[in-house]
Amino acid sequence: MKCPFCGFDDSKVVDSRPTDEGTSIRRRRECLKCLKRFTTYETVERMPLMLVKRDGTRQAYDRQKLLGGLMKATGVAHSARANRR
Ligand SMILES: [Zn+2]
Repeated sequence: MKCPFCGFDDSKVVDSRPTDEGTSIRRRRECLKCLKRFTTYETVERMPLMLVKRDGTRQAYDRQKLLGGLMKATGVAHSARANRR
């Protein structure tokens, strides 16, 4: 984290505590160069719903794609079409 005062890019955390809501962490940092203190907040990045595939790779959840894959796998789409005839 760059120091907002001198731009030095190394600092140490002197205090770390959750905010009132508990959704983020407030850190007091001290610049290793100019020794001035500043505050940073650490929050969770809201990730899209991820699917973990069988081979361990992750993929953003895509309902349409998932549904299509299921239909193909079970043969539902094909038999439904055949029954209509
Ligand atoms: Zn500094």
